[in-house]
Amino acid sequence: MDKRKIVLVGTGMVGMSFAYAALNQNACDELVLIDINKERAIGEAMDLNHGLAFSRTAMKIYAGDYIDCHDADIVVICAGVNQKEGETRLDLLSRNAKVFESIIKPVLESGFNGIFLVATNPVDIMTRITYDMSGFECSKVIGTGTTLDTARLRYLAGDYFGIDPRNIHGYVIGEHGDSEFVPWSQALIATKPIYDVIKDNKEKFSLSELEEIATQVRTSAQQIIKAKGATYYGIGMAIVRIVRAIFQNENSVLTVSSRMDGNYGLTDVFLGNPCIINRNGVRSLLELTLQRDEFTKLRDSATVLNESYKQLHIKE
Ligand code: NAD
Repeated sequence: MDKRKIVLVGTGMVGMSFAYAALNQNACDELVLIDINKERAIGEAMDLNHGLAFSRTAMKIYAGDYIDCHDADIVVICAGVNQKEGETRLDLLSRNAKVFESIIKPVLESGFNGIFLVATNPVDIMTRITYDMSGFECSKVIGTGTTLDTARLRYLAGDYFGIDPRNIHGYVIGEHGDSEFVPWSQALIATKPIYDVIKDNKEKFSLSELEEIATQVRTSAQQIIKAKGATYYGIGMAIVRIVRAIFQNENSVLTVSSRMDGNYGLTDVFLGNPCIINRNGVRSLLELTLQRDEFTKLRDSATVLNESYKQLHIKE
């Protein structure tokens, strides 16, 4: 690829954590910043550019406009509004759907023909909305899904078993939210199933502690929000990881949010599941051999997402 170009829409905490990580990891050659608050985007571009002299890249960074999407490879969307006091989740969702209308339309008008990567919450539904609005093939519309949750799982499970997180092969799947879960029957340390590790080491490890880890993963965003107001570094780095898998044509497996197409008997819904990511976006989904209770959890998670999506359209 000649020039790796990303347009970032939404230069708030998440967007700029991504931009900062992208600069430090030389994740692209050109980075365009767009925000409804143009002055903010200009200030952020200046700030990053002033760090260029200390970085190992010659990245071109500037505050731009939607027309700059015309030759971009990836449009990363981190723009969104926050929940107001007394506002329901659905109200927030419908306001964010309006935000997306104001973004996707001009991106398409620019002639953009690359990959959409969405981080705005509720991410699975916002990704589905992006797919609907863009008319792009589903392989080109990706949500961050449970990529970050899976990283949190590996970190916590690695700590519990005293194993490098990179050798923990486990995934968080489903909604990025309350109905997400860990299919433990599919989790391995190297090539050994975690269930067998527990069976062989009953004095040290237990299933109930595994479930505590899953709960910690599910609630860690709330814990961080309680402590410091918002989460952004982890998701910023997760976005860079997905971008790298795309630009380097890695065929890496990441739990992004993508469209179910008969997988697990589900259609249309977007949710987090291991997917093979390369230059073309989502090459394919890995359908896991879930146990019956895990299968029920996945279907329940899909139902939660489908209900919100339907309610949004009823509200409109
Ligand atoms: P933030 O308020 O700091 O930033 C949001 C930015 O969006 C602001 O700069 C705002 O001006 C901009 N914006 C609003 N409307 C816009 C529009 N119509 N066009 C262009 N820009 C617009 O919020 P944040 O902390 O950066 O969070 C951003 C989103 O990321 C939220 O939806 C948050 O829930 C989500 N998030 C996702 C994950 C994940 O795992 N997917 C993790 C953390 C946060």
